[in-house]
Amino acid sequence: MTYDMNNVFAKILRGEIPNRTIYEDDFVLSFYDINPKAKIHALVIPKGAYINLQDFILHASKQEQEGFWQGLLTVVNKLGLEAAGYRLIFNTGRDSGQEVPHLHAHILAGQKLCDHL
Ligand code: AMP
Repeated sequence: MTYDMNNVFAKILRGEIPNRTIYEDDFVLSFYDINPKAKIHALVIPKGAYINLQDFILHASKQEQEGFWQGLLTVVNKLGLEAAGYRLIFNTGRDSGQEVPHLHAHILAGQKLCDHL
């Protein structure tokens, strides 16, 4: 599978589609999900062109990988979620229902998330 340069998150990274930015650095962009599934629903995406988590783990540099996890932690801190907690979701591939083929972490928080896996 090759990376689709016209996926919606690629367009957001190129500034072609607006977003409600929470945090940005050299490695990540974080913004609010347009269709929130919880009181707080943030997305964190790497700036590099990676389809999903396995693509990222296999092909991203150590610096990009470190930058992604650090960026994600910064977002958690910025949103003040350490104490109350949050849920991370990485949908990967067809059966997960992944809609956008650019790696993204969903951060769901701000309320009790009762529907356990
Ligand atoms: P997934 O199903 O894991 O691929 O999740 C993709 C997410 O991207 C969904 O939760 C969508 O609501 C969200 N989304 C799609 N387009 C946008 C957009 N333009 N800005 C913010 N979030 C978006």
